[in-house]
Amino acid sequence: MNTNKTFKTVEKNGKKYNFLALPGTGFFKFELINLYGSNIERVIENKTAKNIYGISHFIEHLSFKSPVDFTSDELMNIGRNEGVFNASTNHDRINYWFKTTASNIDTAINFVCNVAQNDLTKISQDEFNIEKDVVYNEAKRGQDNFQQMFYRDVKTKLLDYHIEDNVIGIPETIDTFTLQDAIDIKNIFLSHENIMYNITYDNTIIDENQIIEKIEKELARFKVSSKQTYKVSHKEYQEHLKLPTNKTLKVQNNSKQAMTSIVMDGVENTLVMSATLNYLSQLATDTSLNDIIRIKNGLTYGIQFRTQIISYKPYITFACDVTRGNENKLLELFKESINLSANNFSKDKYDKYMKTMSLKRTIGNLNLASYEIWFGFNYIQAKDLDPVRQILENNIDDGYKFVHSKIISYVQMYDAIQNIKQLVNNDKFAKVYN
Ligand SMILES: [Zn+2]
Repeated sequence: MNTNKTFKTVEKNGKKYNFLALPGTGFFKFELINLYGSNIERVIENKTAKNIYGISHFIEHLSFKSPVDFTSDELMNIGRNEGVFNASTNHDRINYWFKTTASNIDTAINFVCNVAQNDLTKISQDEFNIEKDVVYNEAKRGQDNFQQMFYRDVKTKLLDYHIEDNVIGIPETIDTFTLQDAIDIKNIFLSHENIMYNITYDNTIIDENQIIEKIEKELARFKVSSKQTYKVSHKEYQEHLKLPTNKTLKVQNNSKQAMTSIVMDGVENTLVMSATLNYLSQLATDTSLNDIIRIKNGLTYGIQFRTQIISYKPYITFACDVTRGNENKLLELFKESINLSANNFSKDKYDKYMKTMSLKRTIGNLNLASYEIWFGFNYIQAKDLDPVRQILENNIDDGYKFVHSKIISYVQMYDAIQNIKQLVNNDKFAKVYN
């Protein structure tokens, strides 16, 4: 038996299972990611002129109501007492997960399948109305949070989507949804093949084939109705995805802070880019974005500089809020910092940074959940893991070493930094502000 922590992807019967083995932990987590998200609402609006913006997130809520095997109360009691669970929705996906101990594997798989595969047909009108009020109030609460609204609207504005096409939608439209609308759209989510299964398990207790068998057996119990109101092909779905272009746009927002979001198209390799952005934002001594914008000028409480998925493609995103009047200064300092860090970058800086990365990994991996980062890389751009997959299948800790020395090499990181410098100096980015 392999006593190392490992990561692997297994394809079986057209399904993709990603396995993170954490031996000796007695832990189990099952996550199902439906790779159609609220993008589906745009497809339907184009087909039928019907405004259903916000319904995918509402469907995520409804999926916890009256599933096949349980009443809503029974399901909640399992969720409360036998593990930890959650779900979330964005434009590109809806995910559902349950984590627990290895003695509850069957419960975890049964719980997630009941929720994710819930076709909503057992839900009563009363139950529907109450949950609609919940989501209606969630949307209203969001509208009071100006910063949250701004970042929610950035993508909508950049991609020139309908103003309500921001995942959560607006209360007035949510109020018009019927139970039949929800059933019809859920049927689309259940009728396509683009699903990802992420499993964290203890391989000293159960092996991956036994887990796949359990999942397949469970999934087979949930039949999808062939009575479809909307037929959406994968091609049609993809045709309604848009990618950002480099332009500057203002969004209406009543925040007292001036927010700026910058989106750049420059991710060649997600592993290299995540290390590069971490360096540029935090760890480049004296010249990082955090050093220049926050520590030396006090312009903000904090900055974000990271990769973000838009229409299944990774982008570099910078986000920062400053006191009104400081917007131009922010942009100046952003450019100054990137240029200084890029011009100073050397083999010596690289070696020091990699030493720090390795040290932080040792500290970070005390929390075993940090190994789940491999699910994240695999989701963002699976092909980037290909050169290291064989090593990960045998020992993740060796995989880190390979990634840090071979994939995130000095040359790769140098190129990534110079590329970002070029993009920044030539204003090759999209900018959204309020
Ligand atoms: Zn919600």
